[in-house]
Amino acid sequence: MSQTLKAVRGTRDLLPPETELWNRIEATARAVFARYNFGEIRTPVFEDTALFARGVGEETDIVSKEMYTWEDRARAQSERPQSLTLRPENTAGVVRAYIEHKLGETGQLQKLYYIGPQFRRERPQKGRYRQFWQIGAEVIGPPSSGSESPLRDAEVLEMLATLLDELGISGWTLELNSVGSAADRARYNDVLRAALIPVEPRMCVDCQRRAVTNPLRVLDCKVPEDQPIIETLPKIFDSLGEDSRVHFSAVTAALDAAGVPYHLNPRLVRGLDYYTRTTFEFTHGGLSPQGASSPGTPILGAQNALLGGGRYDGLSEAIGGPKAPGIGFAMGLDRLVLTLQATELNQKAAPPQVDAYIAPLGEGVNAAALALARELRRAGLRVELGDGSFRLKKSFEAADKIARHIVILGEDEHRSGILTVKNFASGIQTKVPRAELAAHLASTASE
Ligand code: ATP
Ligand code: MG
Repeated sequence: MSQTLKAVRGTRDLLPPETELWNRIEATARAVFARYNFGEIRTPVFEDTALFARGVGEETDIVSKEMYTWEDRARAQSERPQSLTLRPENTAGVVRAYIEHKLGETGQLQKLYYIGPQFRRERPQKGRYRQFWQIGAEVIGPPSSGSESPLRDAEVLEMLATLLDELGISGWTLELNSVGSAADRARYNDVLRAALIPVEPRMCVDCQRRAVTNPLRVLDCKVPEDQPIIETLPKIFDSLGEDSRVHFSAVTAALDAAGVPYHLNPRLVRGLDYYTRTTFEFTHGGLSPQGASSPGTPILGAQNALLGGGRYDGLSEAIGGPKAPGIGFAMGLDRLVLTLQATELNQKAAPPQVDAYIAPLGEGVNAAALALARELRRAGLRVELGDGSFRLKKSFEAADKIARHIVILGEDEHRSGILTVKNFASGIQTKVPRAELAAHLASTASE
């Protein structure tokens, strides 16, 4: 016997009715983005591997161990095989598209959002998958378009606060920091490298490596034993130059004015090498409520970040483009779903009922039943079509589970054009002329 095939580890199927929640989140995000005048961009799911190596950074966890990379077969003998990678994130792709389509030459600020799957070979667990979805946005443009202004940072953060509120996610925290300019970062790297020399032998192996290759990444470490040591390290804020400080205080002043709460977190440096100045995360530390399958446990498992982002003023140049400062974020759609599922537990909507179940009496009227269903569906009704091979009792049972009405279509009804309709809620059975059927079903649909 052949082995049963299953979805690959770290991937999963999304089924109804859960997909209704996914669609609702996506629709809310699209509506909010539209109000802030963002347009949608869709980039390919795979790209040249070099884009991520240069755009995300060789030393990051994403590039060094999480990418799905393969050598694509060459088309001709003279050609070399190309190294391709399933996108682990979407910012690099958006910035590549910005450069490729010369969007900077418009002189306008580009405000682009995306919704789509991303791929990372991580250890699968609650809230962490190998194929996951992100909703993200980028604001990018030449410096003359105002792309460097701290107002852009504050506006993006205010939009995120609005989006989370409109999604119904309560209890989020905005964690905010500045990692400074490339020069500030270089200065801080030196300070940090020196401070790490005496303590690094007591840290995890990853940190020992990072202490040499990329000291900033040490602040990202999640190993519990390393945390007391990390607490004692110098803070990046003390290495920031005047420009970066002024920029950051303009961001926080605008947030204060708009009434968006935030929490300053000097350790928030994030996993992308080209982040500059403002960096942020929105976290949710909520616990599952009473009545959930495991009440009192963290909704997002060990993962509490709903989204992350920041400014990347040097990214375009790093992948061969013009100077194009930008700021963006990516939110984990899977984690939004988990959070909403846990908190909406007590108000779970009943599965949507269809307006009518059409029961053909005998296979001879199957074709006529399809025509009737077409008519009603075109009138905007939600209709389920039964089958003429079912006995009437079976049709009634099937209809009662999912529909508000059953419409019986036998030879007589087909000939006379007068249909038998039963409303399950009232128990009333009536005869309705075909011409009035759609209106009849719609008028009693909301009873
Ligand atoms: P984490 O610290 O949780 O690994 P990250 O810093 O790797 O997050 P980003 O690259 O900033 O995450 O991605 C932005 C958001 O995408 C995260 O905040 C999270 O909500 C979501 N995300 C990232 N990786 C995964 C994954 N493997 N599965 C599900 N969601 C993810
Ligand atoms: Mg990660």
